[in-house]
Parts: sequence; structure tokens; C-alpha cells
Amino acid sequence: MEKLQNFIDGAYCAPKSGNYIDNYEPATGKVYSLIPNSDASDVETAVQAAERAYPIWSKMSAEDRSAVLIRLSEGIQARMDEFVAAESRDNGKPVSLAAHVDIPRAVSNFHFFATAIVHFASESHFMEGVGVNYTLRKPIGIVGCISPWNLPLYLFSWKIAPALAAGNCVIAKPSEITPYTAYLLGQVAKDAGLPDGVLNILHGEGKTVGDAIIKHQKIKAISFTGGTATGEYIARTAAPMFKKLSLELGGKNPNIIFADCDFDDMLNTTLRSSFANQGQICLCGSRIFIERPLYERFKEAFVAKVAKTVVSNPTDPKAILGAVVSKPHMEKVLSYVELAKQEGGTVLTGGEQVQLDAPYNEGYYIRPTVIEGLAYDCRTNQEEIFGPVVTITPFDTEEEVLLMANSTAYGLAATVWTSDLKRAHRVADELQSGIVWLNSWLVRDLRTPFGGMKASGVGREGGWEALRFFTEAKNVFVKY
Ligand code: NDP
Repeated sequence: MEKLQNFIDGAYCAPKSGNYIDNYEPATGKVYSLIPNSDASDVETAVQAAERAYPIWSKMSAEDRSAVLIRLSEGIQARMDEFVAAESRDNGKPVSLAAHVDIPRAVSNFHFFATAIVHFASESHFMEGVGVNYTLRKPIGIVGCISPWNLPLYLFSWKIAPALAAGNCVIAKPSEITPYTAYLLGQVAKDAGLPDGVLNILHGEGKTVGDAIIKHQKIKAISFTGGTATGEYIARTAAPMFKKLSLELGGKNPNIIFADCDFDDMLNTTLRSSFANQGQICLCGSRIFIERPLYERFKEAFVAKVAKTVVSNPTDPKAILGAVVSKPHMEKVLSYVELAKQEGGTVLTGGEQVQLDAPYNEGYYIRPTVIEGLAYDCRTNQEEIFGPVVTITPFDTEEEVLLMANSTAYGLAATVWTSDLKRAHRVADELQSGIVWLNSWLVRDLRTPFGGMKASGVGREGGWEALRFFTEAKNVFVKY
């Protein structure tokens, strides 16, 4: 069986403990590779390598760092098919999704920050007759990047690219559930000419190697994407050590549909915003609110479309949904369907596991699920499910829908469908949400601030926000 390796100091190596963890293929439910079960001693080795590399990398000109990162981006592009197949196999997502979204976006992330860094400028503040301030923005040093399983290389590279571009050395950990494309990335970085020790990729469990990263004294900043409970733990642990923290956490996003919307556009996009990547995107809209005059028409059309959505093995070109990421996750998602029934909800379509033929008969497939009849403040409508399950709820007034939309602990993303321009802006303004899409979903400009409010996180990624996070500002005043 293939054994994945850590990538430390520019070379692949086994974990010090010699222990490995099983890596499951969600499409078949079978173990297909082994992952290093790294621990604090591997983190220590990586930190030492990063310390040696830091003076070289941080003193390199922005243009030279940019050139390396552009080659890294091109290196992924050149191995596109291999990365696509690996991502789909590791995560269970349809090959078509990995080919159109995940891997192209990883290519873009490196390219975007490679070019951004050569345009990154710091400020100066002139004081009339007194002097001038200028602000230096220097890399932080060694930073930790920890990412989840839902968009593996996409989110891994979204952190690593700005961290490297800004001149930091990185200790990175992908989710133990989806390590494969991060494993491949080491060789691409090496081939691109990234100096040894600048990027170190460690595999293993959050509670061991992840924990060692967040607690290491020499790791000065943590950029984390994952669940809110893990984020809370990281904040509690790392904040007293005065580490800079960027936390991108969970969501429970509202999708608000007014009766005057463009129905066909809304319907097709809502199908995607509900179930893309098996509903395992932090930006998916899992609470759909429909203005009452449109409710029955929406319900009939939406349920008919959802019922026809093909759930199949990820290599099937007809697959719209593949497998969810793991058995425990499948069980968690299905347990929420049971909870919804106990809370008085009616399952309009889906709600069960899909049994495929061998060799996929032990894979983790769930039929996309639509539930109605729930109170907006019940647990099903308040807690993150992170799977192919949405609820539909009618509303009568703008005030009522805003109350329901803003009622959760989360505040990551929201979608609003209406043809009334004034209302669109008014509702966007009132939503407690870091991102609002009007008459669209998941249109991403990498320059814009990305992140959530409330329990969805602290800080923003993207564009200058990311480069500011990965640098320390130092103000210098010069007296006339
Ligand atoms: P987790 O919080 O379980 O894990 C995220 C990462 O943190 C993994 O690499 C995990 O390692 C690691 N980790 C776990 N425990 C610790 C610890 N004690 N110290 C350090 N690292 C740790 O999230 P999931 O992987 O389950 O991802 C799903 C969640 O991510 C959802 O809540 C989703 O909403 C959120 N998310 C948020 C996004 C955003 O931008 N706001 C985007 C995408 C997802 P391991 O898995 O190996 O245990």
C-alpha cells in the first residue's frame, strides 16, 4: 500500500514515530494509502529547517519570490490530470468538480499572490511641517497553515500562497482525511525552485501534529480554516502566546429568495448553492427562505430538480454529487435528517444513504435532501450540517426574513435573490454576514475580503487582507 510522506527541508521523509494512519477512499469505503502519523518531533524538525531557510527566503526580492511562485503555479497546471484524479479520489468529489473548481483554483491562488506581492505597497503619512511616517511591512517569520478536507488543495494553497509571497516560511498541515494533493505539492514546490525548508508539509491528526503547530513558540502566526469548535480551541491556546490568528470557521448560510427574482436563474443557482461538493462548502446556502407568494412554485420545481440529481461514483461523468468525505461525516449528516424529523420537519426528497453497485457499494453516498416545516430556530436550522441537506421556509416580510437569517451563531455568507435594486442593497446591508451574493453565488474575486463574522471567524483572507495578515507593520517616523 502506498505510504505518503512528510515534506520537510525540501525532501520527503517518514514520520519520526514510524506510525501511519489509514487513508480511506470515500467512493469505495476502502483504505487505499497510508498517511504519516506525525507528532511534535516532526514539527520541531520542520521548524528548524524553516529557521535555516528564513534568512534566504525573506531577503529574496519580491520579484524573485514571485517568479518561484509562478513556476509553482505552472507546475500544478502541468500536472493537472494527476492532481484532479488525486483530489477526487481522496475527497469523493466528482472528477468534473475537481477539474473545474478545485485544482484550477489552486493554480490561480499561487499565480494571484505571486503577482500581488510585486504590487504590494506600504503606506506613508505626512505630518505638515513636522515630519513623515513610513510603514514597513515585513514578513512575520515562521507561520502555521492548517486547512480542512472539503476543498483540500484549494484552501491549503489559499493560505500557503500569500504566506510564502510575503516572505514567510511555512509549516502546513492539510486535513488528515484529505492529504494527497498536499503530498504531491511538495515535489512541485521543489521542482519550482523553492529553497529547502521554506515550505514544510506535515501530515497527521489535528490533535497531535496540528496541536504541536499551534503551540510551538517559534511559529508566530496561525492561519486556520475548519470547524468553529476547533477554531475556539486554537484561539484559546494560541492567543495567550500572542500569535497572530486568522480563523475561517463554520457557517449556516441563508439563501433569501424574493418573489420578484429571475426564477430560472435563481433555481439553477440554488441547486448548486445547496448541493455543490455534496453540500460540503462553507459557503453553501443550507437555509432557503422563500417569499410566500413564490413558495409553492419554488418547492415544486426545486424538489423535482433535486430528485433528478444524479448521485454516483466520482469518476462517472454524469455524477452531480459524489461521495461525502467519510463514514463518520455521513453518519453525522444522516443523524441531522433524523433530528429534523423529530423536530417536526417533513423530508420532501432524499434523506437517505444511496446504495451503489460494487465496487462502490461501501462508499459514502447521500441523496440530496430537502426538508420543510421546521421552525427557524430549531437545532436543524441553527447547527452546521455541512452536507447535502437544505431546509425551505416561507416568509412574509423583509423584517421577518432578516430576523430568521440573522438568528444563527454564524455569519459567513448569504445569498439574496430579487429584482428590486433598493431592496437588494438594503437587505445586503442588514445581513450579519461577511459575504453577500446578490442574484448569484460563489462568484469569487480573489482581491476581495473573504471571511465571516460572529462564530464564523476572525479576520479576513484574500487580496491585501491576506498579505497584511502575513506581515508585521512597523511605523518609522522621521522628524524634519
Ligand atoms: P476541523 O476543525 O475538524 O479540522 C480543520 C483542520 O484542523 C484539520 O486539518 C484538522 O486536522 C485540524 N485540527 C483539528 N484539531 C486540531 C487541533 N486541536 N489543533 C490544530 N489543528 C487541529 O474541520 P473539518 O476538517 O471537519 O472541516 C470542516 C469545517 O471547516 C466546517 O465547519 C466548515 O464550515 C469549515 N470551513 C470553513 C471555511 C471558511 O472559509 N470559513 C471554508 C471551508 C470549511 P485533522 O482533520 O487531521 O484532525
